[in-house]
Amino acid sequence: MAFKLVLPQCEQTPTCVNHPPEWEKPLRIQIIGLNKDLNNLFDDGIKMPTPKSSLDRATEFIEPGLRLVQMAFRLLYGRDPDPGNPSDMIPRHQYDIWRGATEDRVLLPEPILEGYAITFDHLVGPDDEDDPETLMLNIVDPNDPLRADLVTIDKSPYTSGPEPVLLLVPRCCQARKGTTDRRRINREIREAKLPEEVRFKRLEEESRAYEEKLLRKSKAQASSDVV
Ligand SMILES: [Zn+2]
Repeated sequence: MAFKLVLPQCEQTPTCVNHPPEWEKPLRIQIIGLNKDLNNLFDDGIKMPTPKSSLDRATEFIEPGLRLVQMAFRLLYGRDPDPGNPSDMIPRHQYDIWRGATEDRVLLPEPILEGYAITFDHLVGPDDEDDPETLMLNIVDPNDPLRADLVTIDKSPYTSGPEPVLLLVPRCCQARKGTTDRRRINREIREAKLPEEVRFKRLEEESRAYEEKLLRKSKAQASSDVV
């Protein structure tokens, strides 16, 4: 049975302005989930793709990602995106999340595929494009102790119901405050627009800097071993 995606009520006092957001407010919305959870979301059993490495990136928005956005949009706004209004919902950016690597940095020889992030715009016009207000949402399995601790809401209504549930939790009801969300999400969109060769050059430089840092560390370690 597919898990049902649920947007819990805001438990802040007063409730947070973006939980749920107002219909008319321009917002850039990012959703992040673990692939093990996202793989449970779809009735027809569609699964998250398995890229070969952290550099192997889909060039088009993946089907499960677009479906996740549709589901989340329905929960946030109580309706489907309006096909007659193109700016109602525009997918902007997606990336895989690897443990041991960030989007542009490869930090381990064999990073492990862990999750997926997708960002879409709601009514964001050209004037807001550079730095719109953002809303960060995480998919959380209320029965996964490691994940459930990330959210501050009462999990008990969701842990033993007749159907398995995954929670779509806005940042306001999470343990982490997310003070850098807006800067990070908007930077990701700006950098995604850079030409591939610029991104690749940056990636190479960062990987080299990281290797040098590791080397320095191991040299320091070796000399302290001698002492
Ligand atoms: Zn909230």
